[in-house]
Formats: sequence, structure tokens, C-alpha cells
Amino acid sequence: MIPVEDALERILNTVHVLEPESRPILSALGQVLAEDVVAQSDIPPHDNSAMDGFAVRARDTYGAGRQSPIFLKVIGEVAAGHTASVKVIDGTAVRIMTGAPLPAGADAVVQFENTDETARKEEKQTLDIIGILMPAEAGLNVRSRGEDIRAGEVVLTKGTLLLPADTGILASLGHENATVIRRPVVSVLSTGDELCPAGKTLAPGQIYDSNSYTIAANIARYGGIARIIGIGRDTLASLQEKIRQGLNSDMLITSGGVSKGDYDVVKDVLAQMGNVNFWTVRMKPGKPIAFGTLKADGDREVPHLGLPGNPVSSMITFEQFARPAILKMRGIFKYSRPVICAAIDQEIVNDDARRIFVRVHVTRTEDGWKASVNRAQGSGILTSMAGANGLAIVPEDCPLARPGDILKVQLLTDSEETL
Ligand code: AMP
Ligand code: MG
Repeated sequence: MIPVEDALERILNTVHVLEPESRPILSALGQVLAEDVVAQSDIPPHDNSAMDGFAVRARDTYGAGRQSPIFLKVIGEVAAGHTASVKVIDGTAVRIMTGAPLPAGADAVVQFENTDETARKEEKQTLDIIGILMPAEAGLNVRSRGEDIRAGEVVLTKGTLLLPADTGILASLGHENATVIRRPVVSVLSTGDELCPAGKTLAPGQIYDSNSYTIAANIARYGGIARIIGIGRDTLASLQEKIRQGLNSDMLITSGGVSKGDYDVVKDVLAQMGNVNFWTVRMKPGKPIAFGTLKADGDREVPHLGLPGNPVSSMITFEQFARPAILKMRGIFKYSRPVICAAIDQEIVNDDARRIFVRVHVTRTEDGWKASVNRAQGSGILTSMAGANGLAIVPEDCPLARPGDILKVQLLTDSEETL
């Protein structure tokens, strides 16, 4: 038996970060930048007003107050998206809207509320003159050119996972496309004579194939593109044909056929088609796992991860091994889930020194995190996975965990906040 960490390390050493592609910025959301983004221009590109008001020369307003207005001649108006055709000189002002470029000569903006504009309108006085009711410092209500981003600056670094603010930054620089690591295409193959595809009527002895769907759903959840191949039967010919269909993807994930019963067929097929090892990993559920590479056209090799068939085992092994592999191919190197410490509410016996992943539902209480162990821990009981938001870990060297013991819990949600 090999430790969980060794299995993960061998898998991660075999999968590689995929190549870059150019994508429209909106579709690149959640992909990793493959190169630094250097600003070609200042943002904002010009000094502009942060308020609706009057652009003035600050020194003209010294001494202004509500009781002692200073009157300036209004020589024009400028709205966002336009430029003023006049220059602000001593004793003058330009009416300005938020986002409009500051006219030449002006160095401050006095907002409407600090002028007598409303009173003038009410009293039907001329608007060719404006009374300034407060002194302005140079720079007041002015957003200066380049205050957000300077031309030449690296604004987003290679390796950044693009989130909405980053999309906005790319857009503010005028980029239509981003160069990002492409998403992995992962083929999914379920194996077993007993499996029936969804939508068909079950024959005697058959069960519906659920693994194709849980695996494909998790591939999508972790940012890959799932391609469901379907069901391979437990025969050499069927498996060979189906596995071949997975060779034009970045990774093949199979489920089933790795435990003792049908071990040999799958082993023979994989041995013929590549270089695949069967491991027993020191974990529960999920002891038997296959991993290796399959030969595709030319020199290309496709990583293959063979998960156990039991629906819960396949999900838990997916979490531990397939998720990190997908993240690495996407250029993401933080694989670990958020981990919390929680008190469990039931006894768990660890009789063969494996790492047990216990399906739990964690809740935050006044006394800290509590993990209630799902009663049905059988590895075929998929509903227990649906109710779990964490996996409590009983370490290899812990033969017995008692109620109240504190265990580490891998959260199956993306953050504590969503619990
Ligand atoms: P195996 O690993 O092939 O021996 O399968 C272990 C158990 O998981 C058996 O009870 C299978 O019927 C079940 N199983 C295997 N593949 C699937 C699947 N795709 N969907 C649901 N159950 C499965
Ligand atoms: Mg089987």
C-alpha cells in the first residue's frame, strides 16, 4: 500500500500545465493568465472630474464661503465623453459633469452643492455667473490621469486566476481577448456489465450508471471540460474500443474494474495500451486505484486515472486525486481544500491503519465546529455524499476516534462562509 501523499505526488508529476490560448475576456473568466498584462495606457487616460460641479482654478476660490460667495464667469460646459473647447483662466469656471475631462487651466472641481446654482435657478437669475460657496484646494474632486494604472505597469501577473475585477481591468485597458491556460478536456468512461445508461429501461440485474455523471459534474465544477464516453463492458474488446475514444483528450478517468473481481480485464487492456500501474492506496474508501499513461498518436501520452466503481469511493478518490490533477493542468497550484478542526459525534474504528475519509456534515456552534458523522458510511451509499459538506480525516496512526475527538475536516465547499 502506498500513502495518499505518494499517490498524489506521482499523479501530479505526470500531468502538466496545458498550453495557452487566446479567449474573449468574458469566456476567460476562471482561467489562469498565461502571461503578464502590461498596461499600454494610463487609467484614467486624462484628469477628470469626480463630481458634477464647476471646474475652477483653486486660487480663485480662496476666501469663499456661504456668507461670502466668490463669483466666477461661466464660460462653458463639458459632459463625460466630450472635451471642453475653452480654457479656464482667472475669474472663470466651466460647468462639468462626473467623468468629463478637466478643462485646461482648471485644477479643482467645486460640486454643485457648494455653489449657488440651485438658488440661481429658483430665482431665475442668470447662469452666466456662478457663486462659489467654499474654498477649493488644488486637486479637489479631480481624478488624476494614471491614478489607477500607469502605462508600462504590470497590472495582472502571469498565473492570476481571472475573477470579475480582473475582467474589468482587461476591459478598462481595451483588451478584447486574454491569453490564458486552456481548460483540460477530460474523458469519462464507466466500466461494468451491470451498468445501464440513464434514460433506458433497466434489464434484470442492471443498475443505472451514476459515476459518469458525478465524475463529469465534478470535472465541470473544477474547471475542466467533461466528455462522457459512455459505458465499457467487462471485455477486452469493449474496453479497448472505449478507451481509444478517450485518447484525444487531456486525461481519461475511468471508474470500476479496479477491484479484485474484474481487475484482470482492465489490467490487461491498460497494459497493452500504455503504462499503467495498479496501486493500493492507504486510504478508505478507495483502496484500489489505477494510474498511468496511455499511448496516443505520435509521442503523445494521455494520463489515465482509474477510480474504484463504488459511487462514494469514486467521488472521494476524485476529490483527492483528480481534482488536483485538473487544477494543475489549468495552471492552479493551490490544491488543498480549506481544512477546519471539528469535534466528531461518533466513534470511528480504524482497524487497518489507513487514512479514513469520513463523510460528515459540519456546523459552526458557540463551542467551535461540530462534525456529525453520516450514519451510512457504506461506499455504495451516494445519498450520504449528497448530505456531506466535509470529509473528516482519521489519520493512519489513529486506531480509534471517539465522540468529542477533534479531527481535521476537508471542506467540500469552496469556503467556510458557504456552510
Ligand atoms: P467495481 O469497482 O467495478 O468492482 O464496482 C464496485 C461497485 O460499484 C459495484 O457494486 C458496481 O456495481 C458499482 N459501480 C461500478 N460502476 C458504477 C457506476 N458507473 N455507477 C454506479 N455504480 C457503479
Ligand atoms: Mg465492475
